[in-house]
Amino acid sequence: MAIIASNFKTNHTRKSTAAFIEEVNTFLKEKNITNEVLVFPTATSLDSFNTVSNLTVGAQNAYATQKGSFTGEIGTEQLDEFNIKTILIGHSERRHILGESQEEIAKKFNFYKELGYTIVYCIGEPLEVKEQGIEQTLEYIYEQFVGIDTNYENLILAYEPVWAIGTGVTATNDDIKAVHSAIKEKISKPLLYGGSVKVANVHEICSLDGVDGALIGTASWLVEDFKQIIENTK
Ligand code: PGA
Repeated sequence: MAIIASNFKTNHTRKSTAAFIEEVNTFLKEKNITNEVLVFPTATSLDSFNTVSNLTVGAQNAYATQKGSFTGEIGTEQLDEFNIKTILIGHSERRHILGESQEEIAKKFNFYKELGYTIVYCIGEPLEVKEQGIEQTLEYIYEQFVGIDTNYENLILAYEPVWAIGTGVTATNDDIKAVHSAIKEKISKPLLYGGSVKVANVHEICSLDGVDGALIGTASWLVEDFKQIIENTK
């Protein structure tokens, strides 16, 4: 039974987010599905959602602060308002588009760890590193653990190769197995795969050794598809 997470990125409104979460909630309840399901809406769509215990709503990002002068950011004062206790950290779009350094990411990780948040921590290599081979890939990924407490009890990892995110190019089963088994040897935490996971391939991917679930962007934004993804991995 897989852990299934949806990353909305910059999609959905407050209204469509609320409808999505309500529909997934009803689906889990009525079908008695016990998969752990996480949904990460935009910051403006966060709310105090009333959900079954295996459905959790988390933040895609927040600053390492309670409150203060950090224009454009949110902190725990805003997250607490909605009882949000789960956060995505280290996503490739934050590393590579928003320019978060490993140092900033580690600071964020430690701040939210101290507060007991469930952290979904993302790692993954860009194409030019993948092309250099598995040794270099793993070396690159291990650098993304600098400053991160991999023994933290509320930690979920997500391996998301940058070249597979939003491209429609899913990593091959062999690619996934090679990286997952290497990480699993060092860190015994749930490890999700992300990067062009779809309704059609989620079952196969989640059945691979060392894969505990999936973090899904594009293919999760339509609620019918997301429900089908959950159904395919229950
Ligand atoms: P994708 O995104 O499913 O659209 O590839 C995954 C992610 O960025 O978490």
